[in-house]
Amino acid sequence: MSATGRAALFFGPGQPMELVELPVPSPEPGAVVVRVTRANICGSDLHIWRGDGLLAAMARPDGRIIGHEMTGVVHALGAGVTVDWAGTPLAEGDRVVYQYFAPCGRCRSCLRGMTEACARSFKVLQGKPDVFPHFRGAFADYFYVTPQMAIFKVPDIVTDTMVAGVNCALAQVVMGLERVSVGLGDRVVVQGAGGLGLYATAVARDRGAEQIIVIDGIDERLELARAMGADAVIDLRTTTPDSRVAEVKERTGGWGADVVCELVGRPEAISEGLRMVGIGGRYLEIGTFYPGTSLELDPGFLVMANIRLEAVAAYDARSLHLALGFLHRHVGDLPLDAVVSDYPLERINDAFADQDAGRVTRASLVTM
Ligand SMILES: [Zn+2]
Ligand SMILES: [Zn+2]
Repeated sequence: MSATGRAALFFGPGQPMELVELPVPSPEPGAVVVRVTRANICGSDLHIWRGDGLLAAMARPDGRIIGHEMTGVVHALGAGVTVDWAGTPLAEGDRVVYQYFAPCGRCRSCLRGMTEACARSFKVLQGKPDVFPHFRGAFADYFYVTPQMAIFKVPDIVTDTMVAGVNCALAQVVMGLERVSVGLGDRVVVQGAGGLGLYATAVARDRGAEQIIVIDGIDERLELARAMGADAVIDLRTTTPDSRVAEVKERTGGWGADVVCELVGRPEAISEGLRMVGIGGRYLEIGTFYPGTSLELDPGFLVMANIRLEAVAAYDARSLHLALGFLHRHVGDLPLDAVVSDYPLERINDAFADQDAGRVTRASLVTM
């Protein structure tokens, strides 16, 4: 076992991240030390790096490890850990996915069975790198999976590039679509065909949606949306909010959608998307996850149409397990192997700059 591992420390927007060596911890009973193999730069990491709005305040610019979208192999198992959270035997060297946050199990949310809304979940990410267990974020050689974090063994046929996004976008989409109970016969609109939107399209189809309409303004994404199961796509570049609402109405027999999902990340999309919901429909909010914005809405329309609004942040252990099962079932029939551009960890600053400038769609830091 190597005694130390590298970690990239974040010192604030505009500051270069710095690689340091940290001691590799020994796992406490119930914990797992993971050797990270691949960590992607997620949209929210970019927000932190740029210092957008309140996100700048959410990430501490004092030399912490950021990043959360990752996968790795078991480096060391704590006492008592012999199986993953689904009962599958777990050994050193096994490929795994895991939660990067730690629901406490004993706050008001956890006690009500809503671990995704745990008030203390993200405290674990705020640990300082010079304090045990040191490795709290994805952009490092190791990650410390506490006993509260769900961990699952990855089936051999699911590749690292498929699985790296599971502990963020896919698990959250699985949780969200479950919350608004997308099912047989539902007509679904997906606003935004980035990582979240593409997964939402495929998962909605898997759950039995009758019709899926995806909205975006980038050719490559619209094409992928069709491959993931969209029946129709609407191009943002050649339409207006009014014409898009009209098109959704027209495509749904004048009624509107049963479920609309906001996976764009801008409040204007919500104002527009709410107008696409039909009577008795549900609106799922995931994209605009950062506080400090507002939107225009007509509450009378929501009331008269009996619309249900649901917002979902993070996800529970069950959703992560279901997400992995979804990947496993669709390895052969969906383009799930995300296109990523590999960078070694020591080029993390270039990776962020390139993704920010749009030179790469998704940078992935490879540490092994
Ligand atoms: Zn993410
Ligand atoms: Zn809790």
